[in-house]
Amino acid sequence: MTDRLILGQTLAFTESPFVVPPVDAARHDSRGAIAVRDGRIAAMGSADDLRRDHPELPETDMGDALLLPGFVDAHMHYPQTGIIASWGKRLIDWLNGYTFPEEMRLSDRDYAAEAAARTLDFALAHGTTTLTSFCTIHPHSGDVFFDAAAERHMAVVAGKTCMDRNAPEGLRDTAQSAYDDSAALINRWHGQGRATYAISPRFSPTSTPAQLEALGALWAEHPTCLMQTHLSEQVEEVAWVKELFPDARDYLDTYEAHGLLGKRGLYGHAIHLEPREIDRLAEVGAAAVHCPTSNTFIGSGLFDMASLAARLNVGLATDTGGGSNFSMLRTMAAAYEVGQLRGTPLHPAQLLWLATEGSAKALHMAEEIGTLKPGSMADIVALDLGSTPMIAQRSMRARDIWEAVFPTIMMGDDRAVARVWVAGNPVPRPA
Ligand SMILES: [Zn+2]
Repeated sequence: MTDRLILGQTLAFTESPFVVPPVDAARHDSRGAIAVRDGRIAAMGSADDLRRDHPELPETDMGDALLLPGFVDAHMHYPQTGIIASWGKRLIDWLNGYTFPEEMRLSDRDYAAEAAARTLDFALAHGTTTLTSFCTIHPHSGDVFFDAAAERHMAVVAGKTCMDRNAPEGLRDTAQSAYDDSAALINRWHGQGRATYAISPRFSPTSTPAQLEALGALWAEHPTCLMQTHLSEQVEEVAWVKELFPDARDYLDTYEAHGLLGKRGLYGHAIHLEPREIDRLAEVGAAAVHCPTSNTFIGSGLFDMASLAARLNVGLATDTGGGSNFSMLRTMAAAYEVGQLRGTPLHPAQLLWLATEGSAKALHMAEEIGTLKPGSMADIVALDLGSTPMIAQRSMRARDIWEAVFPTIMMGDDRAVARVWVAGNPVPRPA
């Protein structure tokens, strides 16, 4: 039984804070409520109004906690949870030194299932209710992730990673097997319950043109699927792509030429872009996904949020294990720091929007997740805005909700997550 009235402070976006002035983009209610029925949000408003309209609903009173949509992580790698925070390498060495040996271990189905379950539980503990994950080349790596998400009623996006070159023996598929195995997973999972499939070439350096072509054809046959990959993360990588694809106009063209540019495309990182690439992403309505803790941790570069968010769908993501933290709070803080280094500080409204509705829009799932709008699934997080003494002494001086929430964005972690609901069900607290 998920029907309930959840009471607390509410913050609901009415517009994108990248389109209107950030302070005008959201409605804050210091004593608000959310009515949940059958796993969905039935209504949101003041506590007084909703108590009057729904007198039969049992109440869960979260006091001063801030009720927000559950966070939406638009790009991560569950197989890399075990190697998060590994020291000292740049992208290609990181892949060869840490990622590929770990992804090899997921050839064992039980190991993969345990990694999937552990990852989803870490995410929930941090208030993240939707993950968008790459799996490994092993088809069962997709099955175990979708299975574990279904057990937890979570909306997730995932796909079997495809690589047929520049990866070690044991982590390579072929153009044909990537097509066949991805197609089988789409048939098994896409649209089942809350599962969405993303066709997932890792990135151009690890796919031959033949494999990219096969996956482009698969996407054309299954246009409601998402497609996720990486784009222009590090300058060495961009140079390598130029060598591997001498005829391509730019990095994005290696996807575009093979049917892998579309509005349901998710392009992770997108740091070192040419003007033509930005134009094309904007024209087709594709999404760039910003992974700030990864970009600083691996030393990749500074995403240009101010320019790109004005023209593209932009999602926010941890990119764990290249990213250094599961927390979307820490991820927002890193996005703020990257913005500062580019001379464009992001407003807390922009940060919170990116971590919820912005990412949901990038995934084309904003009707279902990422907002508190009636009809949306009741994936909700309650944040304690005074979760540590340091945060509390700062937020108690706040003059408005933005000043009250910013210390939690900058200094908060899983201790700030007072409670999480997925499809209206409270998530059991970790033992
Ligand atoms: Zn990634």
